[in-house]
Amino acid sequence: MGTSSERKPFLAGNWKMNKTVAEALATARDLSNQVAQLRDRVEIAVAPPFTAIYALAKQLDGTNIGVAGQNLHWEPSGAFTGEVSAAMLKEAGARYSIIGHSERRQFFGETDETVNRKLGAALKAGLVPIVCIGETLAEREANKTFDIVNRHVREGLKGYSAADLHSLVIAYEPVWAIGTGKTATSAQAQEVHAYVRKLLEELVGAELSKKIRIQYGGSVKPDNIADLMSKPDVDGGLVGGASLKADDFAKIVKFQQGT
Ligand code: PEP
Repeated sequence: MGTSSERKPFLAGNWKMNKTVAEALATARDLSNQVAQLRDRVEIAVAPPFTAIYALAKQLDGTNIGVAGQNLHWEPSGAFTGEVSAAMLKEAGARYSIIGHSERRQFFGETDETVNRKLGAALKAGLVPIVCIGETLAEREANKTFDIVNRHVREGLKGYSAADLHSLVIAYEPVWAIGTGKTATSAQAQEVHAYVRKLLEELVGAELSKKIRIQYGGSVKPDNIADLMSKPDVDGGLVGGASLKADDFAKIVKFQQGT
């Protein structure tokens, strides 16, 4: 599986625009009770709406679940109404931030250039960046999958060195599989993940490319995670819908037999 000793499995839940603070705290409490025994074996994070980050990070302090932002702005402060900076996320208790999610690219005009700037801001603030890449259905059908992920990775990471990117996580999320119930087969995921790892080798060197976790995202469920995780370059999952219920996300996190 993609969980060589160099890459600890990393499962992150993206709650999108769901859950009030009270709901987020209740779900996280339930999840935390169910996954506490996995300490050190699996890395776990949840990405609530901004409003819940502070309270959630406080509640989860000392547990094996970290908190992630779903987005950030690249500037440290200023007249950017509605935006939140990397340092603000960090101060509120976030350890990670998702960057360039396909919904941000699709609905909010994010581009490879904004992803690249946001990556710099996250790294500067000491947040672990989870950079999302992936093709649309039309792009897959036009045989452009590799071209698209190549561009997303190359442009997204442009200008940063291996030393800058030591904490980088990549999430391969084929857009046609997000929220649609259509999961990429584990073979389709592996094919792209292996391609991305090869590209990372070129961009950041062999040593770091073996350490960077590449998550798969797109309709991950309790019944398909083990198959996905059985592939050598699939190192975790970025999970939307199925992370909203503590029971389902706990089953996903406990994908390994005997855990
Ligand atoms: C996501 O939002 O990153 C995602 C993969 O969503 P879902 O699991 O619901 O397809």
